[in-house]
Amino acid sequence: MEIISCPKAMQRFALESKRQGNKIGFVPTMGALHEGHLSLVKLASTHSECVAASIFVNPKQFNDPKDLEKYPRCLEADAEMLGECGVQVLFAPEPKDMYGASFQTTVNISRIAAPLEGAHRPGHFEGVATVVSLLFNIVQPDCAVFGEKDFQQLRVIETLVDDLKFPIQIIRGPTCREANGLAMSSRNARLSPEGREAAKVLNDSMLMAARDMGANRNLNLADLSRRVAQLISRAGLEVEYTEIVDEETLLPPAIDDARLRLLVAARIEGVRLIDNMRLG
Ligand code: AMP
Repeated sequence: MEIISCPKAMQRFALESKRQGNKIGFVPTMGALHEGHLSLVKLASTHSECVAASIFVNPKQFNDPKDLEKYPRCLEADAEMLGECGVQVLFAPEPKDMYGASFQTTVNISRIAAPLEGAHRPGHFEGVATVVSLLFNIVQPDCAVFGEKDFQQLRVIETLVDDLKFPIQIIRGPTCREANGLAMSSRNARLSPEGREAAKVLNDSMLMAARDMGANRNLNLADLSRRVAQLISRAGLEVEYTEIVDEETLLPPAIDDARLRLLVAARIEGVRLIDNMRLG
């Protein structure tokens, strides 16, 4: 596996690979890799001849400087895992490689980025949309895989690609979970064993909601999301939000046959966790 940190060198590699007739499948990450990331790599390899991954802890998408500082970093171990999974090229730049002194562009997406994470993490999705646009121009992928674990991020990127006509197919990767149901996340590394056990309530409470909704589609959505919040806080987590929205718009459902998704965010042991599930 080739490891490249210079954007221009990465672009040259990508253009040469495409000239040879390879489709490039791209998996952007912030590193501290787990099975969830590797499942996206495997999915990318079924859609392309050349899999490119990136590891970049993007300072522009952290609204909390402490979160950025504490974000786990282990490039060597990550590179080994990606090489073993058949990734051909790893793009791993430093912030100065991505954002030179003259950098002054921001990609701003309005409606889909406003609620939920957007409301709780000001500037987060601007940072995401800006870095993903940059990465797409550098890596030149034919398709890119994003996890449903970060569902609003996925919808933001689908909107970005649609609006700006990036010639890139976005592929959705299902959420990988620990044996106890907790969604895998790089941030889980900061939880104690007790914290990991308590955090499984996120999945359990969403399963409860999915079950109840399956039994009665006419449930009051505000009541149901309140019950989810109660279960989570009874397990000792601090709830930031639990919301049931139309999974297309991420707004309260306006039509009867809207596809619903429950999204939750909560903190435990100083770690912020998010998760989501389709209802019905
Ligand atoms: P991150 O490194 O957290 O920025 O995530 C990189 C990519 O991996 C994003 O597309 C995430 O949605 C995806 N991802 C993170 N956790 C999981 C998971 N548990 N299962 C599947 N994909 C995931």
